[in-house]
Amino acid sequence: MARLSNKVAIVTGSSRGIGRATALTFAREGAKVCVNYARSRDKAEEVVREIKSMGGEAIAIKADVSNLEEVKKMIETVVETFGGIDILVNNAGIMYRGTVLESSDEEFYGGLEKMWNVNVKGVLYCSREAAKHMVKKRYGRIINVASALGIGLAHMGSTPYAITKMAVIMITKRFAFELGKYGINVNAVAPGPTITDMMTAGKSPEEVKKSIESNSKKSILGRVADPQDIADAILFLASDEAKHITGQLIVVDGGRMDYLPHSI
Ligand code: NAP
Repeated sequence: MARLSNKVAIVTGSSRGIGRATALTFAREGAKVCVNYARSRDKAEEVVREIKSMGGEAIAIKADVSNLEEVKKMIETVVETFGGIDILVNNAGIMYRGTVLESSDEEFYGGLEKMWNVNVKGVLYCSREAAKHMVKKRYGRIINVASALGIGLAHMGSTPYAITKMAVIMITKRFAFELGKYGINVNAVAPGPTITDMMTAGKSPEEVKKSIESNSKKSILGRVADPQDIADAILFLASDEAKHITGQLIVVDGGRMDYLPHSI
């Protein structure tokens, strides 16, 4: 039997990358899926078409997760369309780089502010609004997509982004603590480098190849993730097999060996 049959799921940022793989994986497991996006309408609709072509149910909803009113409308639409919300995957995220010394104030602080709005406030907005419906059913699964950078993967220029992902991990623990008594489990995954637009944007094919090679060498398994690797971990946390797991972080990084040492 499908692992998510009769479940309603929202996957934020599922027009592309990890979110897309998660939406398709959930649909294959029987969930009705809200494919959320901010700008890529055509790509989101393509995901919906793909789900429908395999006999599933899905809707595409445009909502910027950093805009509370848009999030509220998305949640209302999902509840009206599918009758509730069982699973929320807070996947939508953006990344701007900024080294401590070389970046400008605008790059460093401006990037942090933009990322804070999407990566942190977006998770808070979607989780709080979804939880209001989950408590009524005394059932819910919230899965946050953090990052290996949020737990100290050593990578220059990622400090502002890492700060937002560390916040996502703390949100996971605090929400798990407050929502557990309502039957809502809250967990997170921390992907290492994963081949998506976020990893390849602004790079030539040659640079992408080099980046994959150098990142692969730094993991015990000798590879970087593809979006399906992350979607599979998210599926596990969304399924009944994870019913006794909450407040946890699953690191999906192939065993990276280059984390900041504990002595720092
Ligand atoms: P991606 O390929 O760039 O896709 C990002 C997705 O998020 C897109 O669907 C995008 O929608 C959506 N999005 C961006 N801003 C949004 C907003 N304000 N409201 C709603 N949706 C928004 O990125 P990805 O690599 O799949 O990343 C997914 C998650 O994994 C992110 O949280 C990222 O930080 C995390 N992560 C990624 C990696 C990696 O190496 N790729 C590693 C660790 C963690 P549009 O198409 O409409 O723009």
